[in-house]
Formats: sequence, structure tokens, C-alpha cells
Amino acid sequence: MTDFAKPERQVPGVHHLSVGDVLVTALNDGMLEGSFDWLVGIPVADAEALHHARFRRVPPRITVNAFLLHLPDKLVLVDAGCGGAMGPETGRLAANLAAMGLVPGSVDAILSTHLHPDHVGGLLDGEGRAVFPNAELIVHAAEPRFWGDDAILAKASDQEAQFAELARATMRAYGNRMREITDGEVLRGVTAVPEPGHTPGHTGWLISSGGDSLLIWGDIVHMPGVQFARPEAGMGFDIDATQAIATRARIFDMAATDRLRVSGMHLDFPAFGHVTREGSGYAFVPEVWSPSM
Ligand SMILES: [Zn+2]
Repeated sequence: MTDFAKPERQVPGVHHLSVGDVLVTALNDGMLEGSFDWLVGIPVADAEALHHARFRRVPPRITVNAFLLHLPDKLVLVDAGCGGAMGPETGRLAANLAAMGLVPGSVDAILSTHLHPDHVGGLLDGEGRAVFPNAELIVHAAEPRFWGDDAILAKASDQEAQFAELARATMRAYGNRMREITDGEVLRGVTAVPEPGHTPGHTGWLISSGGDSLLIWGDIVHMPGVQFARPEAGMGFDIDATQAIATRARIFDMAATDRLRVSGMHLDFPAFGHVTREGSGYAFVPEVWSPSM
């Protein structure tokens, strides 16, 4: 035996996939300790049973991903993981970008799915400054309107107030480099797909190139082991739970009907695959790993 040391960590959580001429890179930010108590619309025992049946961990862990789009004319990050906002098991985006040889100044734009801390934490450094000094921050107009509303903040729970604080810090840090959109094509080949409910401006990003496509759907799913089989199960921190359930049903139906490739921030890394109908619910079919991109 050689003196090769036993590895102590995974190789970088970086995975590339071509969508037409666009190279999409999934970047793992780590995993959050979750709880079935966060679910609404399903008994905890049912969620546990689903996880046991699928050899998933109980209590659940929640994957956090971000994505990098190598568009023909721009380098674009889709969300930025937790940064320092959610503890030591997350915040790995920066190291994974560095492992690719990418410096933050090279990122031209950030497409935000919504302004929750596990999506914007990585946009700010410890001093509250923008990590990506040259990037335009593109966000649905309903997000700054909601998180910046003092009347909503006055009635918010402690957790919602913390979320709002980070959302506001993000808006301040990117200042006049923030572009508010509502729908349509926002970058060449990238279209906004409004998915309200989880937050008012929650938005998926549809990438289309050369007859191929991918929907990066943000937080349509937080617990893949539960919500594909039981799409009526929501998260307690959905801002509008009823609307979030309706949006999930619409997006699952569209993805299954159109055989649309999807990805998401809380799907199991590397998080590319398809949605199929199964029984009264759905299932996720992961894309088979390939050495070619
Ligand atoms: Zn999230």
C-alpha cells in the first residue's frame, strides 16, 4: 500500500450539464439539518414513513444548491447558497467556485429565485458587502416590495423578521445594480417563470438553447423524499401556503406533461432530472451521471 492518505472530504460539489449551447453547472452549498415539523398538510408519521421506505435519513437533511450558467455572452449565478447565514454545514459555494478557478469578479449577473437566506446568504460577506462586485442582481419585483414593506415587517414573526433583515441587507449591498423584473426573457435564452406562493416573487428560470431546455425551479420542492409523492405537503415558512401548493401542482403537471428537464435548489445534488406521474402523486427521475458534458 502506498502512503496515499485517506480522503477526509468529498471532491468539490461541482457538476456540469449542457443545455444546448449553455453549460449549466450545479454547485452544492452543503446540507441543512431539517425537521418534518416544518411540513404542513401531511402528518409527520407519513413523512417519516416515506423517508424510511426510500432509505432516506430521519430526521431529514435538506440539500442546498446554486447554479452557474455559462451563457454565450454572460456568466450568471442562479442564487448563491447560504454564505455564513445558516451554519457550518452550508456556505460551500465560494469554495466550489474557487475549485473551478472562478473569481467572484467574473460573475456578470445573479438570477435570484427569491430572497430567503439559503439563497442570498452567499451574496454578502461578513461585513455585509457584495461578494460579487460586478454582478447585476436580477429579482422579481414582488420580492423587494414584500421584504422591504415596513407594515409587513411590523407583523412578522421573529424568524420572518430575520429573513427580512438579510433580504434588506442584500438589496442595500447591490443597490443600483439590482434589476427588478416580472416575466419574459430577462437574459438571452433565460425566461422568468413566476412561481408565487413560497414567497410573493418566487421565480423559476427557464433556460432554452438549441431546442433543449431546463427549468431551474427554485423552491418548488424542499423535501424531495416527501413532496413528489405528496405534492399537497407544504412548508410552514411558505408565505402563502395555499398558493404554494397550487404553484407546485402547476409546475409538476407542466414538467411531467412537457417532459421538461428540471433542477432545483433543494433537489439531491447534482439535482438534474425529470418529473413523472406516479400513483396519485409524482416521482423524480434523476439524470444519469455522464463523464461528458
Ligand atoms: Zn430555499
